[in-house]
Amino acid sequence: MSEAPIVVIGTGLAGYNLVKELRKLNPEQAITMITADDGRNYSKPMLSTGFGKNKSADELAMATPAAMAEQLNIVIRSHSRVTHIDCAAHTLYLGEEPLRYSKLVLASGAEVVKPRVEGDAEDCIYSINDLSDYGRFRAAAEGKKRVLIMGAGLIGAEFANDMAAGGFEIDVVAPCDQLLPSLLPPQAAAAVQHGLEGLGVRFHLGPLVSRINKTAAGLQVTLSNGELIDTDLVVSAIGLRPRLDLAVKAGLQVNHGIVVDRELQTSEADIYALGDCAEVEGRVLLYVLPLMACARALAKTLNGEPTAVSYGVMPVTVKTPVVPVAVAPVAADQAGNWSIDAQGHDVQAEFRNSDGQLLGYALTGAKVMNKVALNKELSPLMP
Ligand code: FAD
Repeated sequence: MSEAPIVVIGTGLAGYNLVKELRKLNPEQAITMITADDGRNYSKPMLSTGFGKNKSADELAMATPAAMAEQLNIVIRSHSRVTHIDCAAHTLYLGEEPLRYSKLVLASGAEVVKPRVEGDAEDCIYSINDLSDYGRFRAAAEGKKRVLIMGAGLIGAEFANDMAAGGFEIDVVAPCDQLLPSLLPPQAAAAVQHGLEGLGVRFHLGPLVSRINKTAAGLQVTLSNGELIDTDLVVSAIGLRPRLDLAVKAGLQVNHGIVVDRELQTSEADIYALGDCAEVEGRVLLYVLPLMACARALAKTLNGEPTAVSYGVMPVTVKTPVVPVAVAPVAADQAGNWSIDAQGHDVQAEFRNSDGQLLGYALTGAKVMNKVALNKELSPLMP
């Protein structure tokens, strides 16, 4: 009997980048990818720039699964959901169907946090976390003018900019007192908010969305402070969390994400994880740069050369072109102070400890160009 393939669950950026890296090292290794979605190769960050560029879901797709399978010389099973993993037997299950693996990689991403809202319009609340979600939302938005966005974090801010640029009237509702609360100090957040308001975006910061009801003219949204907003569609961008269901059922150690060591191995031999589902030495980073570093390291490990991943300086770009943002987030447990230089939309905020060491920064507007110089002062995230 031939050896079972390496199996990768997930064809997002983590899964496809890992397999591309592995193929560079080993043209022969049998690889099977399994995905619950349609398996098209796309760049998820493009989902929050698609309205401004007027791109359909089909236009954002870069390759079909058949093209990817041929290009990478692998088997891809799309529209196939892994329901269970039997670690001891090195076998996973697609419903009743067993599939053996030599090594298994979980690249199963993050799931959206669902809002709890009263009313009769639950089916009118959209989340946009993959290409199919994006396609469904675009179809629903056809001929509509008004969108209410729940959430003022990175994804909410990006959608607000993108959909306003795409011609929609936007209301943003979030139970926080500033935009991008976990990333920006207040002065930088105010600059971005001001820029978005210039595009016509209305902010309702503080209250929650408590009820959404259908009306003859669209939707009526009730906020927890009693305010009423008429809109056509609601997008929920209140958060993402690592998908843990398969790992929990398989008995793998989980915390906020699937717990892996620096070689990206889970608590079970021959099972690895990377991307949005993984927690690498205590860090859950739902961004592209960390998963690319993980893909390169894990490809070597799977090819027989155990390799620990390291993270360099990894700033986050918020795609709000009206007021661009670059952030090196400050870890919650770090002590220090912000020093802030703010002129209109251009804010340079540096967070330093008592020795003057730079621990993080937030740049907006024209100050974004200073990130290269500041990056040189920062320590790597995980050397
Ligand atoms: P995903 O792309 O979510 O892929 C998960 C895969 O697992 C899918 O193929 C799914 O079908 C499959 N799967 C899950 N469960 C199962 C199962 N049981 N059986 C079979 N298959 C399964 N990051 C940045 O760095 N810069 C940005 O500008 C940026 N912009 C973003 C904009 C938006 C709107 C969003 C939502 C995210 C953005 N991100 C950005 C984050 C970045 O896109 C993600 O970190 C990255 O795409 C995650 O890739 P992934 O492969 O880990 O997960």
